[in-house]
Amino acid sequence: MAIIKVQKGTKDILPQDMPVWHFMEDTARKIFSEYGAKEIRTPIFEATELFARGVGDTTDIVNKEMYTFEKSERSLTLRPENTAGVVRAFIENGMHRLSAPVKLWYKGPMFRYERPQAGRQRQFHQVGIEVFGIKQPTADAEVILMAVNYLKALGLNDLTVELNSLGCPECREVFKTKLKEVIKPYLQDLCPDCQARYEKNPLRLLDCKVEECKAVYAKPEIQEVIQSDFICEECAEHFNELKSYLDALGINYSINKLLVRGLDYYNRTVFEIKSNNLGSQNAVCGGGRYDSLVRNLGGEDTPAVGFAMGMERLASLIGNKEEEKTAGFVVSNNTLEAVKLTEEIRKAGISCEFDLTNKKFVKQLEKASKVAKYALILGEDEIAKNQVTVKNLDTSEQVTVTREKVLEVLNS
Ligand code: ATP
Ligand code: MG
Repeated sequence: MAIIKVQKGTKDILPQDMPVWHFMEDTARKIFSEYGAKEIRTPIFEATELFARGVGDTTDIVNKEMYTFEKSERSLTLRPENTAGVVRAFIENGMHRLSAPVKLWYKGPMFRYERPQAGRQRQFHQVGIEVFGIKQPTADAEVILMAVNYLKALGLNDLTVELNSLGCPECREVFKTKLKEVIKPYLQDLCPDCQARYEKNPLRLLDCKVEECKAVYAKPEIQEVIQSDFICEECAEHFNELKSYLDALGINYSINKLLVRGLDYYNRTVFEIKSNNLGSQNAVCGGGRYDSLVRNLGGEDTPAVGFAMGMERLASLIGNKEEEKTAGFVVSNNTLEAVKLTEEIRKAGISCEFDLTNKKFVKQLEKASKVAKYALILGEDEIAKNQVTVKNLDTSEQVTVTREKVLEVLNS
């Protein structure tokens, strides 16, 4: 019969991959809780409308990339990102009543119908943070700090923080109008996506990856508008304060005026962290401030700032980590004694196995040396004297000790 294969753009995360995934997850829990963040887990599927309103219906994610299906005449969607879900949970559970800031972190699978390639899957995982209730740039700085320190704790270097300010809806409007004005003469030269973005979401023109479009945006009169300081005084103050915090904290960053981010909800601060060791999918982290999203999804006016990181991209930078071996493997021809000793050791919180198939002694020893650090040998002699021979399978050193002492040897 034909075998059924894993779906295009999805991957199994196998036992040998787990040490890296546990490392990313444990480190997230450790680092984010140092900042007072609490974990939240929201459902994998939500009402489609949540993403249409929350992510924005001019975005690629909502227009092209969502896994949407009907059940009982309801339109549901597998979450393409988790900010909208976390904001829904924040509102629904009245978290605006908690004293600010409310810091939430999450990890889990996300789904986007994209063209699979290195660093880009259809089911992938993100770990992220959302901080609610603080409008001051201290929160932006803290969110960036959390991202940087998490990446450091994973042992990742050679990363660049790129920063930009998109201003507020008011000053951005003026910028959009100017941008459209200077781009208008070249409209015919742009890719079909950009032609659609021109009306619907002109800021997104700036992060188009098509060479012909990039060439247009590199023209001096267009660059002049892009590089101009369009943001209003208040937005500029916010941005300057943020930069002075980052300077004081010793976080290196570069300003990238082309950084606009894919999602509609950002205002003021946006940032990305890129690795110099990944191919073209080099962004490991994207984030920013989204002060109007909570209100737009029906909640109380609540400023917020956050980020999401792609865990597959992090995993490929971390590289391989060795699987932990089982601590003990009981080798004995007496299955009953073997299972008893195995359980004694497990009860003490130490991993242990024995041969379930009652193979020959030598075969059992071979198996032990493959999967365990110690062979715990229970021959007739040992059983009679209530002893165990503990063999270190790395060094081949062995000692015979009383049963009580076995745990001591395993713990040493
Ligand atoms: P990109 O420009 O790479 O498509 P994005 O702007 O769509 O990224 P976000 O929605 O901000 O990304 O998600 C944050 C992070 O999640 C990205 O920086 C990336 O590391 C990761 N990510 C996004 N889409 C995918 C995907 N399809 N497969 C794997 N990782 C992804
Ligand atoms: Mg994308």
